[in-house]
Amino acid sequence: MRSAIVLGAGMVGVGTALHLQQRGWSVVLVDRGEPGRETSHGNAGIIQGEAVEPYAMPRDGATLLAIATGRSNDVHYEARALHRHLGPLLRYWWHSAPARHAAASRAYATLIAQAVPEHAALIEAAGATDLVRQGGFRVLHRTPQDMERAAAEAERLRARYGVRAQVLSPAALAAAEPALKQTGAGAIQWQDAWSVRDPGGLVAAYAALFRQRGGTVRRGEAVSLGPTARGWGIRTADGPVEAEAAVVALGPWAPDLLRRFGYRIPMLRKRGYHRHWRGPRTLALPLLDAANGYVMAPMAQGLRITTGAELASPEAAESPVQLARAEAAARDLVDLGVPGEHAPWSGTRPCMPDMLPVIGAAPRHPGLWLHFGHGHQGFTLGPATGRLLAETMSGEVPFVPAAPFRPGRR
Ligand SMILES: Cc1cc2nc3c(=O)[nH]c(=O)nc-3n(C[C@H](O)[C@H](O)[C@H](O)COP(=O)(O)OP(=O)(O)OC[C@H]3O[C@@H](n4cnc5c(N)ncnc54)[C@H](O)[C@@H]3O)c2cc1C
Repeated sequence: MRSAIVLGAGMVGVGTALHLQQRGWSVVLVDRGEPGRETSHGNAGIIQGEAVEPYAMPRDGATLLAIATGRSNDVHYEARALHRHLGPLLRYWWHSAPARHAAASRAYATLIAQAVPEHAALIEAAGATDLVRQGGFRVLHRTPQDMERAAAEAERLRARYGVRAQVLSPAALAAAEPALKQTGAGAIQWQDAWSVRDPGGLVAAYAALFRQRGGTVRRGEAVSLGPTARGWGIRTADGPVEAEAAVVALGPWAPDLLRRFGYRIPMLRKRGYHRHWRGPRTLALPLLDAANGYVMAPMAQGLRITTGAELASPEAAESPVQLARAEAAARDLVDLGVPGEHAPWSGTRPCMPDMLPVIGAAPRHPGLWLHFGHGHQGFTLGPATGRLLAETMSGEVPFVPAAPFRPGRR
C-alpha cells in the first residue's frame, strides 16, 4: 500500500488526505493543532462556485489612487511593510495584465467548476448537510450606476463561463432579507455558490470522515519533517511517522517550511479579520457590501463580518482598521447588536502572484509534493485541488489539466 504524510489539516490538507485515501493510500494527517482551526476556520464560509476569475491586482489609476490614499476599504497596507511584499507585488502586477489574467482565469475556471460537486460529495458522506446552505450569496450595490456595471459583469461571466446570477431590485432584496434596514440599488445574487455556517466545523467534519474511513490524524510540528531511507519522516506527539511521500499543505505557512529545503516561494500574504455580532435578526445568506469591501456572513456564532486584504508583514501587530470601517458601514444595513468577541480574529490568505494554487511535485525532492497558495478561494477549492493532487500522485489521468498549477512555473 502506498503511504503519505499530509502536513497541514486545513481545508486543503484534509481534502488531499480524503482523496489519497479514496485511492488506496495509507495517510497520516499531521497538524500542530486540531483540523480546521486556522485560515479555514476564519473565512467567510462561501463555497464560491461563481469565482471563475481569480482576483487580479487593480491596474486602473482611479482604483490604485483610492487604495494609496486609504479611500478604498478593499485593500489596506502598512507602508513600512510594503518593501517586504515588493517582489511578489510586482509579479502580481505583471500577471494581472489582461491577457495573462485571461489565461489564469481559463485554468482557474476548470477548478472552480469542480468545487461545488466535490464539496457536495464530501458534505453528504460526512453527514454535514446541516452546516451548509445552497442558494448562493448576494452582492449589494449602493448606486444605480454600480448596479448597472455589476449586472453587465454578471452577464459577461454567464456568457463566457455559464455562471448563473440573478439581479435583485431593492424591493426583491428587502423581501429576501427582512433584516436589512436599507437595500441600496439592489443586489446580484450569485446562484452557483453555497455557504457554510461554521467553516472550521465543516473541515472538522471532513477530518472525522477521514478518521472513520481508517485515516490517522496526529499532532506534530512541520519543522521536524525530513527525508528518511523510506521516503519522508516527521515527529508527532505519538512518535515518529514515516511514509514514501509527504504533502506540504500548510497554507500561509508553507513558504516558511520550504525555505529549509531551499525553495523561495513568492507568496503574497493578504491578511483578513473577522468578528461576530449578535443582533436581534440575522441574514439568510452572506452579503458582500461592494462599496465598503466586507462580507456579512450568518454563522453559528453570530453574524460574521470579514474584511478585504491587508498587506502587512507576517509578524506585524494587528491593525483592524478595515474591520472598524466595515462594522460602521454594516451598522447602516443591519442592527448588529453586541460583539461576540472583544478581540477580532485575523488570518492570512495564501496568495500566489500568478493567482493560481501550487499543486504538484517539488522540483528537487522526490516524494515531496506541494499543495498551497489557494488565495481568496482555498475553502472553496480544497476538495477539488485535493482530488487533482491525489490523481497526479497516483499516476491517474487528472480530471482537470494539471500543468497550469505545477510548482516551479514562472
Ligand atoms: C477573511 C477571510 C475570508 C475568506 N473567505 C473565503 C471564502 O468565503 N471562501 C473561500 O473559498 N476562501 C476564503 N478565504 C480564503 C481561505 O480561507 C483560504 O484560502 C484557505 O482557508 C486556505 O486553506 P489551507 O488549508 O491552505 O490553509 P489553513 O486553513 O491555514 O491550514 C494550514 C494548516 O497548517 C497548520 N500549520 C501551520 N504551520 C504548521 C507547523 N509549523 N506545523 C504543523 N502544522 C502547521 C495550521 O495549524 C493549519 O491547520 C478567506 C480568507 C480570509 C482570511
